[in-house]
Amino acid sequence: MLLESLRKQVLETALQMISDGLAFGAGGNVSALDRESGLLAITPSALEYQKMAPDDVVVIDKHGKVVEGKWKPTSEMPMHTIFYRERDEVGAVVHTHAPYASIFAVINEPVPLVITEAALCIGAPVRVAPYCRPGTEELARVVLDTMGAEMAVLLGQHGLITVGANLGQAYSSTIATEMSARVTFMARSMGAEPQLLNLEEVAELRQLYLRHYRPSAAKS
Ligand SMILES: [Zn+2]
Repeated sequence: MLLESLRKQVLETALQMISDGLAFGAGGNVSALDRESGLLAITPSALEYQKMAPDDVVVIDKHGKVVEGKWKPTSEMPMHTIFYRERDEVGAVVHTHAPYASIFAVINEPVPLVITEAALCIGAPVRVAPYCRPGTEELARVVLDTMGAEMAVLLGQHGLITVGANLGQAYSSTIATEMSARVTFMARSMGAEPQLLNLEEVAELRQLYLRHYRPSAAKS
C-alpha cells in the first residue's frame, strides 16, 4: 500500500478530531503531504472515520488526481490541495467543525488571542474568511488568501481550517483555536471581556515554540 504510514497517521488524526468532539460522523477532513513523492494522503468523502481502515484514506497528487484509493477524496479537497501548491512549508491540513470556533465563524468575529497555548501554536488572531459554498475552488482561494501567512482561519458559516509543518502541528493549532474560542465564550457568558495577550509577548512565545517545541530526551 502506497504511503501506508502517512495514511495511518491521517486516519489517527481524523479519529482524534471525532473523539475530541471537533467533528461528527464523516464531517471534517484531514490531509498530509509526503515530501519525498509530493503526494498527499487525504480522508475520503462521506465515510465515517470510526468505520475506516488506513487503506480507505486516498492518495492524490497536489492537483487532486487520485493515485491510489478505493474512494473519492473528500469534497473539500480543493481547500487542502491549494495549500500544498501555494505554501511550501505546509505539510498537513486539518478542517473541523469545532463548535466554539464555529460560533465565531457565524458571528463573523476573529478568535482573539487570550491564552498562551494560542500564542504558541497560532501566533495571531484567527480571521474569518467570507462565506463561500463548501467544496468549491472559490472557497479554497478565499481561505488561502484570508489565512495569508498564518496557521488558521475560520470559514464563514462553516468551521475552522488549520495548517502546519506536520499533522501534530496542524492539529495543535486546531485545539489552540478551539480553546481560545471556548475560553472567550465562557468569559463573556460571565459578563466579562477577556484580556488580550500583549502582542510582543505573543511574538516571543511563537518564536520559542517554533525554535524549541519538540520531543527532547530528559538530561540524565
Ligand atoms: Zn466542513
